[in-house]
Amino acid sequence: WGSKNNQFYIVYQPVVNAQTLRISGVEVLMRWRHPVVGEIPPDVFINLAETQQMIVPLTHHLLALIASDAAVLKRILPRGVKLGLNISPAHLQADSFRDDMLRFAAALPADHFHVVLEVTERAMIDKEKSMANFAWLHRQGFEIAIDDFGTGHSALIYLERYNFDYLKIDRGFVQAIGTETVTSPVLDAVLTLSRRLKLMTVAEGVETQEQAEWLRGQGVHFLQGYWISRPLSLAGLVAAHDEPANYFTTR
Ligand code: C2E
Ligand code: CA
Ligand code: CA
Repeated sequence: WGSKNNQFYIVYQPVVNAQTLRISGVEVLMRWRHPVVGEIPPDVFINLAETQQMIVPLTHHLLALIASDAAVLKRILPRGVKLGLNISPAHLQADSFRDDMLRFAAALPADHFHVVLEVTERAMIDKEKSMANFAWLHRQGFEIAIDDFGTGHSALIYLERYNFDYLKIDRGFVQAIGTETVTSPVLDAVLTLSRRLKLMTVAEGVETQEQAEWLRGQGVHFLQGYWISRPLSLAGLVAAHDEPANYFTTR
């Protein structure tokens, strides 16, 4: 860490409305290009950052990078666009968490972005604290998405107990769509429960039209994946806006 030659940067992956296929948000993803070994997969360095107690400073850096992109993002993205950020469990528990979020929101242009914090079930180990934080976030106008749902230790009970705005369907389920195997009964259960609980759903890792159509048919609200766009640098997103890419046009 710390060396000036280490290059952290961010990319933005478009998320579209499943009906109109127009952009409704972007997820911000962190990247690390090491001067010697090259690109390190985020799963690897995020894990490392978490075990080395570096995830909070790293996320501060990410928030500063977004803030410095914000004027350009405002120009190319529609008003009300959702800005999805991945927040580590350790950060949610940190003393600085609320101040960090307020400072970040204050660094964005007013009334343009809706910040959505993406958390995993690991964030909910301390139930009291996470519930208090989620309630506070809602009062401050942030939204919350439960990420990677259906993997790891997720329990359906979390959906009822916590007041999430969005559920992100893990790409493992999405990638099973259209293969010979029958669709996952777990995915069916998650979709049914989301409808009952009036949760908005986002499918991740959508790579084919077939997957997109199936998901849309199931009433999934938003789609994200290579079929729409890979994660893009800010310059790449500006180019997609100027060309324009399909998801920036009216269909
Ligand atoms: P995630 O939050 O589930 O992010 C979505 C991942 O799916 C991203 O991988 C994205 O590039 C990938 N993806 C998107 N569309 C497709 C597709 O159509 N097919 C396939 N095969 N993959 C697709 P990425 O960027 O490698 O990030 C991996 C994980 O690293 C993220 O998973 C997230 O858990 C973590 N991560 C990334 N950036 C941050 C960050 O800033 N903070 C924290 N705490 N975690 C981060
Ligand atoms: Ca995520
Ligand atoms: Ca995910």
